[in-house]
Amino acid sequence: DWNMIEEIVGSALNRLNKSLHDRPVRTRLPDSLPLLWIDAVLMEQVLVNLIENAIKYSPPGSPIDIEASSLAASFRLTIVDYGAGIAKDQVDKVFQKFYRCHPESEQGGVGLGLALCKVIVEAHGGCITAGNRPGKGAEFVIELPFPHAPPAPVEAETGEG
Ligand code: ATP
Ligand code: MG
Repeated sequence: DWNMIEEIVGSALNRLNKSLHDRPVRTRLPDSLPLLWIDAVLMEQVLVNLIENAIKYSPPGSPIDIEASSLAASFRLTIVDYGAGIAKDQVDKVFQKFYRCHPESEQGGVGLGLALCKVIVEAHGGCITAGNRPGKGAEFVIELPFPHAPPAPVEAETGEG
C-alpha cells in the first residue's frame, strides 16, 4: 500500500512508548515527504527493532535522532543514538543471524532483530547499513529506491465490455 513514513514512525514510537521512558526522540521529517509503496506492518517492525536497539545500546536518557530525507533517486531514513556505537570491523556483521557484538553482556537478546530488518528492507528493494556518527553513537541508514511504484497489476481477462 501507499504509506506515509511519518505515520509509520509515529506508530513505532507509540509501541515503544513504555521503554522510551523520558528519552528525547528528535524526529526530523520534512513536510514534503513522498508516499511510499511499502508494507506498513513490516516497515513498522523494522523501526521498532532499530529504536529498540538504540534504547538498549545507549545510556538511559540519551537522545535518539530519527531523520528522513528524499533524495533524487531514493528515500533515506536514518536512526542515530548516543551510545558506544559499533566497532568498525563489526558494522557489516551485525546483520547476520544470531550475531551479537557482546554476547557475554547482561543485555539480553537473540541477535535476530537486525537480520529481520535487512530481510524486510531488501524485500522492498532497498538497503540498510550500519555505521557510526562522529561524536555520537551508532547510525543505521535505510535507503529505499524512489520513485516507488506499486507492482504492475496482473490484467485478468474478464470478458466484460
Ligand atoms: P534481538 O534479537 O533481541 O534484537 P540483539 O539486539 O542482540 O537481539 P540485533 O538487534 O540483531 O540483536 O543486533 C545485533 C548486535 O548489534 C547487537 O547484539 C549489538 O551488539 C549490536 N547493535 C545493534 N544495534 C546497536 C546500536 N544501536 N548500538 C550499538 N550496538 C548495536
Ligand atoms: Mg535488537
